Amino acid sequence: MSAQVFLASRNAKKLAEMQRILAEQVPDVQVLGLDDVAPYDEPAETEPTFEGNARIKALAAVEATGLPSLADDSGLCVDELHGMPGVLSARWAGTAKDDAANNRLLLEQLADVPDERRGAHFTCAVVFAYPVGAGGVAEHLVHGEMPGRVIRETRGDGGFGYDVVFVPSEQPGGGDLTSAEQRPEDKDAISHRGRAIRAIAPVVADVLTGL
Ligand code: IMP
Repeated sequence: MSAQVFLASRNAKKLAEMQRILAEQVPDVQVLGLDDVAPYDEPAETEPTFEGNARIKALAAVEATGLPSLADDSGLCVDELHGMPGVLSARWAGTAKDDAANNRLLLEQLADVPDERRGAHFTCAVVFAYPVGAGGVAEHLVHGEMPGRVIRETRGDGGFGYDVVFVPSEQPGGGDLTSAEQRPEDKDAISHRGRAIRAIAPVVADVLTGL
């Protein structure tokens, strides 16, 4: 039987990314998503921190599925806005979770901010939780960050969310591209999520191969 790990997400891109990175360490790994397990009450992301939200999602996932489970939470932290939108990134312009409206609002808020004060970073917290002993649950937490700056217009049509207004400091393919203009493999190599997933992968591999 192949080793199974559950990722509490419906995002096909995240599931494929996790499958690809884990497969380098556990060849027969199978990453299951929310659509592959019986439905359960998913917790609302009500915590004030990325770690807190990732943790409640991972613990609910273990409780519901009994499987070793991963959950992540991520967002954009803008220096001039004292770290916001932060955990409110998805719903910065309202509960509609409208990427275009979020970007419009952010650009408006930063309209008067000079170039040297437009620093920002994406951050991602990943929690890996798995059953141990008699009813216990072990937890691991990792972080990844992608530093850069917010520009004054939208550029590019790849990626999602704030990618069209964010230029990462690292440019694996050269140039001064937004993360929506970078090749997906170049963004993966430097992204907050790519970094967090690569950091947790060896822990997941150890737990799965020990099962
Ligand atoms: P989630 O953690 O995947 O739910 O992401 C929360 C929100 O943060 C998203 O809706 C986006 O607005 C933003 N976000 C997170 N990661 C990225 C990214 O890689 N690019 C652009 N926006 C992102």
